[in-house]
Amino acid sequence: MSPVYVVGHKNPDTDSIGSAIVIAYLWNQWKETGKMNSIMKIDEEAVPVRQGDLNPETEFVLNRFGFEAPELMTDGTGKKIILADHSDISQTIDNIDKAEIVAIIDHHKIGDVTTPNPILFINFPVGCTMTSLKILFDLTGVEIPPNIAGLMLAGIVSDTVAFKSVTTTEKCKEVAEELAKIAGIDDLDALAMEMFKAKSDVAGKSPRDLVYRDYKDFDMSGKKVGVGQLEVVSLDLLADVKDALYDEISKIKSEGNYHSIFLMLTDIMKEGTEMLAVSDDTSVVEKAFGKPLEGRSVWLDGVMSRKKQVVPPLEGAFASL
Ligand code: MG
Ligand code: MG
Ligand code: MG
Repeated sequence: MSPVYVVGHKNPDTDSIGSAIVIAYLWNQWKETGKMNSIMKIDEEAVPVRQGDLNPETEFVLNRFGFEAPELMTDGTGKKIILADHSDISQTIDNIDKAEIVAIIDHHKIGDVTTPNPILFINFPVGCTMTSLKILFDLTGVEIPPNIAGLMLAGIVSDTVAFKSVTTTEKCKEVAEELAKIAGIDDLDALAMEMFKAKSDVAGKSPRDLVYRDYKDFDMSGKKVGVGQLEVVSLDLLADVKDALYDEISKIKSEGNYHSIFLMLTDIMKEGTEMLAVSDDTSVVEKAFGKPLEGRSVWLDGVMSRKKQVVPPLEGAFASL
């Protein structure tokens, strides 16, 4: 029997890679133990896959908790698919219309994929897919092994920027504590710092690699919009590459027929974002954030979350263009 593939979004982050691994584990536990049988019968084995290269933080995390990187898979044609950490067509596997989506487990706005049949669709408005997953483990009575707990914890630390992001919920903190206990991690701050350091590794990377490290496409009121994010412990690390990053998003904009591309340069310690912007109509920036673009960028104090603090105001601004 052909397997079900679990896939996170394009330009995968630690949550997207990690939650694909964790969902596959949980799915296979459901299959073996029958703990989901009262809702749905599971016949196929789940296999995690990825749509792109690992970022340095994810590499560190997989090593730290002893996981192999999932295989690369970018075409969904004829496959059964579980979506992790997204439900937007622009972010999902190619030819999703020729695939069968059997489940979605996420923590974002609902995207634009649709299914002809009822499916398992779990989405809590929390800081990380791993938080949604912890709730699901508990709900279905499946035990979490230490290495899976570590991977889940790392996903939460990554997505919530160690609980600094406004996306962080009480549930995320509660779940992180439980996972740390299972994983045997006493010093959560030390883990977070190691992850931030790995995440901040920009030396020797091409501008294009940096732009695409954490990059998402959106359809905003019919306009093609890209929003990338680089999170670093200090913006000083980006001082030398900022010009090149700006040139790169300008290039990508014209190559890809974009209306706008925004690149968030997020300072984890200062807890704010310098946002580079290229746009056919730069007034969207002031409409969205109440501050005009100053030259190439705008400083957004306290802004760390693309999902909660950047995409929704941009969607609103584009709707009123
Ligand atoms: Mg993600
Ligand atoms: Mg996520
Ligand atoms: Mg993120």
